[in-house]
Amino acid sequence: MATPLSADRLLQALRNEGLRVVEHRSWRTHSRNHKGPWGPVNGVMIHHTVTEGTQSSVELCYNGHSTLPGPLCHGVIAKDGTVYLVGNGRANHAGLGDDDVLRAIIDERTLPADNEANTDGNRAFYGFECINLGDGKDPWPAAQLEAIERAAAAICRAHGWTQRSVLGHAEWQPGKVDPRGFGMDSMRTRIAGRLGAPQAPAVQLPAPRKPVVDLSRLITAARTDPARRGTPVTYSGVRTVEAALIDAGLLAKRYGDGHFGSSTVEAYAKWQRSKAGGGYRGAAADGIPGRASLERLGKRYGFTVTA
Ligand SMILES: [Zn+2]
Repeated sequence: MATPLSADRLLQALRNEGLRVVEHRSWRTHSRNHKGPWGPVNGVMIHHTVTEGTQSSVELCYNGHSTLPGPLCHGVIAKDGTVYLVGNGRANHAGLGDDDVLRAIIDERTLPADNEANTDGNRAFYGFECINLGDGKDPWPAAQLEAIERAAAAICRAHGWTQRSVLGHAEWQPGKVDPRGFGMDSMRTRIAGRLGAPQAPAVQLPAPRKPVVDLSRLITAARTDPARRGTPVTYSGVRTVEAALIDAGLLAKRYGDGHFGSSTVEAYAKWQRSKAGGGYRGAAADGIPGRASLERLGKRYGFTVTA
């Protein structure tokens, strides 16, 4: 029994276990907590999706469907081993299962057969949906099995649980067959081995690529946009610069519209006059970006300038 991990701790635990993790949409605040309890948590449940295709499976697990709203789990494990986080909190994945199984999970002993559906599993279990058709023919690539092992181990490690806190949906709810195509006993053996070994080094993720702002296109936008109020956005890099000006406290959020209008020109002039922007005066602070002031803005707020 334990308090559920926060979004940050869950993400960190998975990454520390060497997993490649993608944060999907608003997973941090996406849950069914308004429909019932989440936690105390007792274990980790493994499923198969009965779908194919990564993006569509991830979207389905995020959104759910008309009779079963999402999130349908916490993480989706793709065939290449990437984990997509889709929910944080109560999720519609475990349904009603057997209270004898829950007691065995809590005590971390061998699971009895599941022959009752009398206990809320969505309160008690983290859920991972693994992309597989579940027809017994769709393969389970080594990378995916390893990611299942790592993801389950990550949560067990974070809570101080053993591999006996990990179960398949089929071991919980009568009538369920997932995950089909590998054995949960062999998976638990793998998890035990991982938990006994020193923690894997964290995956080094490439630094996110900075947006690029083209100076000449930006200047064109700054010169022409104010005269054409209400016209469509002329250059998408304007948004990047406006976001920086908003972060700098020089532009009101409502003017961050991708249109280099008079408010943006005025805000940019303030940046040019500021010490951080170069301390320009007079005509040199006319609100039309120049290379040096733009590079200063990009360095501080995370974009690159090309001419
Ligand atoms: Zn399932």
